[in-house]
Amino acid sequence: MPSEQSVSSLDVLNRVFGYSAFRGEQESIINQIISGQDALVLMPTGGGKSLCYQIPAIIRAGTGIIVSPLIALMQDQVAALKLQGVAVAFLNSSLSFQEVQEIEGRLMRGELDMLYVAPERLCQDRTLNLLHQIDVALFAIDEAHCVSQWGHDFRPEYIQLSILHEQFPQIPRIALTATADETTRKEISLRLELGNAHLFISSFDRPNIRYRVRQKNNARSQLLQFIETEHPQDAGIVYCLSRKKVDETALWLEQQGIKAIPYHAGLSTSVRQAHQERFLREDEIVIVATVAFGMGIDKPDVRYVAHLDLPKSIESYYQETGRAGRDGLPADAWMVYGLQDVIMLRQMLSSSEAVEEVKRLEQRKLEAMLGFCEIISCRRISLLSYFGEQQKEPCGNCDNCLEPVESWEGTTEAQKALSCVFRTGQRFGVNYLIDVLRGKKTPRIEQFRHDQVSTFGIGQELTEVQWRSVFRQLMARGFIAVDLEGFGSLKLTSESRPVLRGEETIYFRKDVARAKKSSRRKKTNQAGRYADSFSDKSEEKVVWEALRAKRTDIAQEQGVPAYIIFHDATLMEMVEYHPTTRHELSQISGVGASKLEKYGDEFLTVLNQP
Ligand code: ADP
Ligand code: ZN
Repeated sequence: MPSEQSVSSLDVLNRVFGYSAFRGEQESIINQIISGQDALVLMPTGGGKSLCYQIPAIIRAGTGIIVSPLIALMQDQVAALKLQGVAVAFLNSSLSFQEVQEIEGRLMRGELDMLYVAPERLCQDRTLNLLHQIDVALFAIDEAHCVSQWGHDFRPEYIQLSILHEQFPQIPRIALTATADETTRKEISLRLELGNAHLFISSFDRPNIRYRVRQKNNARSQLLQFIETEHPQDAGIVYCLSRKKVDETALWLEQQGIKAIPYHAGLSTSVRQAHQERFLREDEIVIVATVAFGMGIDKPDVRYVAHLDLPKSIESYYQETGRAGRDGLPADAWMVYGLQDVIMLRQMLSSSEAVEEVKRLEQRKLEAMLGFCEIISCRRISLLSYFGEQQKEPCGNCDNCLEPVESWEGTTEAQKALSCVFRTGQRFGVNYLIDVLRGKKTPRIEQFRHDQVSTFGIGQELTEVQWRSVFRQLMARGFIAVDLEGFGSLKLTSESRPVLRGEETIYFRKDVARAKKSSRRKKTNQAGRYADSFSDKSEEKVVWEALRAKRTDIAQEQGVPAYIIFHDATLMEMVEYHPTTRHELSQISGVGASKLEKYGDEFLTVLNQP
């Protein structure tokens, strides 16, 4: 839209996207690009990165070129923009030669506000030649952390993107990522030659995500209970460590009447694609996945991310849980974690073939993750401080804030556990050690004559479950290590000495067995949580469901994901304000001019139903 230099970015935000105000630093970022400068934007998932390049691309003369690593992501963004009345297209390997030619024609005639391209396509001579012949409004490099060789999303094609600066030095560039750490940021800046770019760092807090870590007892049924009581009609992601567990869990959920599909690198490309597609398109669906799933998953209405296994680091945990609640509505990060997780991860680490330096780094990351699980104060404060952000007030939206955890002084118990490990020769696993402590005369214990050691039967005061909790915490804090040769047998570390000598006081987290029918949780749930906030029989719920059904119809008719028509947040506002005229409807956040034109009447019909 070359003639629109005078249009303000706020106008575009209102008219095209239907939003009334900018969020956070969006406006400064947009101004930076409009004025022709470069920017490096670090913003959490759901922070609103897309508008930071979409609005300047609409306002600046020429076509904005957006580099995006995933075809699925590109297609959805383009479909959404088209519905908003933006002239946009993509170039990637999914197109036929004829389609490519048609798009190139539109590009040459200056008809496009934006063109999405895959990085490898952009760096081809053919594409570069085209770009030299047209007006380029800007280059946006989405998911810019893909240049980082250390991250697990590394894409070699991204490294080549430095040619943009070399060949088009006068065109503003904006690189965006939700990866927070400084190493990655420096690498982006270096590899993309963004040394002069203005750096915009947003807070990485995701206030709408509720963090919870539960003690694992029966992971599957805990998961089922969580889904059934809190998210029966929602879309969610369940992460597991192994492919086998993914398959089994998906199958099991399916048998329990929950629509669930698996995703991992062992499935064929076509199955993976089909499952990803279904997940993006459907409202009530669970995808059970390994960490292979997730990069660039743009579905805004994922209401929960559940971990059945412990992530390897806080970075992974943050990234994976961050896929919940991009739309800003309440969402859950829910995890079950137990002794076995600690044993397994410790074992995996010590048997890893990596060089010593890498191993030590992984070790430290795991320690931090374990620390996060065991912490008894606000989880959000701990999470943010890991990324170097100071938050002082407890958040009120994590399990430790909502249901404060007690601690207990367990120096004596720690000593008993540690000395039991020592007295039995550092050759046995947890179950055996607990039996010794509790004075159980099993045949094995008798065979090894451990009913004769001084620690036999000295731990009657705690139940088996409580001892497991003690061992877990001792292990999480590094007092006990897992012996590699010994199939899960435990040994002492040098850290344990001061404890055994009585020089250190030990506090444990009191693991509460949460009552099955916790009325308390229900209450916090209903205090304004998402669709649950409508009581079951209310009129609002009826309207909500009617709007959702209408959205599904339209989406299916057009072959796009439902959220591309309207986000949940937009439907929620419709329920709340109940617009009955076109003008009122246009005031709802997320209803821009083009969508009002296309769908306004259909939704008004629903809203005006008696
Ligand atoms: P990111 O790419 O940073 O994860 P998106 O660009 O997908 O985030 O934006 C997340 C959600 O927030 C989208 O649903 C988007 O439409 C919405 N959004 C972005 N900016 C605003 C705004 N200023 N007002 C209201 N909603 C916004
Ligand atoms: Zn908190």
